[in-house]
Amino acid sequence: MRKKTIPVLLAFVLILTVSVPAQRPQNQASLTDEQKLLEAMHLIRSETLYGYVEELTSEKFGGRLTGTPEFEASAEWVISHLKKWGVQPGGDNGTYRQKFPNPYTLVFPGGECSLHLPVKDGIVKKFYTYESEFLPGGTSGSGEVTAEVVFVGYGITAPELGYDDYAGVDVKGKIVLMDPEAPVTPRSADTFPKWRDYCFHQYKLENAVAHGAKGMIYNYGPIGNPNNSYREGFIYHHVGAAVVADIFAGTGRTYKATIDEIRKDLKPRSFATGKTMTVKNVTEHHPEGVGFNVIGVIPGTDPKLKEEVILIGGHLDHLGRAWNLMPGADDNATSVAVGLGVAEAIMKSAVKPRRTVLFNFFGSEEQGVAGSKYYVEHPIYPLDKILVFINMEGPGGGPRFSASGATTYTSFWSFITKANEKYIHRVVGGGPASYPARPRQDTAWFFWAGVPSLTFGASGGKSAPAPSYHTSWDRIDFIDSEGMEDMAQLLFMAVMDIADEEKVDFRVK
Ligand SMILES: [Zn+2]
Repeated sequence: MRKKTIPVLLAFVLILTVSVPAQRPQNQASLTDEQKLLEAMHLIRSETLYGYVEELTSEKFGGRLTGTPEFEASAEWVISHLKKWGVQPGGDNGTYRQKFPNPYTLVFPGGECSLHLPVKDGIVKKFYTYESEFLPGGTSGSGEVTAEVVFVGYGITAPELGYDDYAGVDVKGKIVLMDPEAPVTPRSADTFPKWRDYCFHQYKLENAVAHGAKGMIYNYGPIGNPNNSYREGFIYHHVGAAVVADIFAGTGRTYKATIDEIRKDLKPRSFATGKTMTVKNVTEHHPEGVGFNVIGVIPGTDPKLKEEVILIGGHLDHLGRAWNLMPGADDNATSVAVGLGVAEAIMKSAVKPRRTVLFNFFGSEEQGVAGSKYYVEHPIYPLDKILVFINMEGPGGGPRFSASGATTYTSFWSFITKANEKYIHRVVGGGPASYPARPRQDTAWFFWAGVPSLTFGASGGKSAPAPSYHTSWDRIDFIDSEGMEDMAQLLFMAVMDIADEEKVDFRVK
């Protein structure tokens, strides 16, 4: 067998080596730029992008909490790809990393969330279920608090607004139960700005500590969320409806009606619930933590136009481990995968972008949108040279694409529509760019700095059997890799089109 196949193979190799070089240059020369771009576009393949998500969500990257060695390892993995394709470093001192201070907290198994129920000879504890009923606070102190729960509405003390959730209640040594956000909607453009500073998680935790509380039951999800302050000895959980209903049971009120009343007349309804709970977490805080953004640059080929920059990005980080691994597949490994797909296609394309394309995979989005804030305060290129920031959040969520900012930046959007109608054929929609409340996406800082900023996402795909936003259910099993391929191809074609256009200005006057 072997003896026979070798001559056949050799002959085949000979034909290939003789014929390919003779034909190839001729073929390439006869291709139009559009055909060359389409060749590069088809290098973007769903199985490759799926493989990237698989890697980023793997156990060894530990959920990519910024500051941890696992985040560092995931960044190194991203950088190895950028390097391989020849994307240039855009970070500090010729590296791909832009560093910033980033304290972080590790959350280990071993916590407890329980309600004490009085019985004849003492109490029995009702234990709540990890993840479906509670999740440990992402920046909780380590330790255990058993105390009465005091309901404090939104946990806000705003003397200038005549509003104080802590008035008339004593929370010293107690556990406070509160809602996130503020009692007015961010959509109320006239009143919300006065409340804005009070809707941050950090403020609420600090205010609880300032009033002497020892622990917190935060009615938030339950989702994992490391976007908060750390105070040693202050222990808290994120809980869902089951815990809240039990705390309110027998008080003559319901949680929802009470919150509705507060929102209606902006009068606090705080009270001591008479319920005792235990909150316990095992954590380790790292104040020395350092985070970074991963930045790669593809310089433009036109001596003048290369000063103008198209920024593509998405955050690389996720929640780490909140006991269990939080893999963060669609939040936001899919964005990194799509970004890498676009980067590879540009590097391998026979047509080069005339403008500069900058890739930024942010750190610490999950810890207060800190990486993008740092970038905007320390930009590599002047912010007024960034034509557009194409951000992504969850582009693997299904077949329907949309972008916030689509209806704000209509001249940019026409490039997306054109590429979609010509090559991709997806349902693509979107709404305005709007960031009235606390920043919740990397685009917020850029938008406030005047940079046209859009966040692309996708929806309508397979859903997990339990809520997947910021839980361990955000797994690769539920991502749509065909959608990711199309998203990457769409952005590649639109970006190359923009990079080649004579004059571009997407800023809204
Ligand atoms: Zn997130």
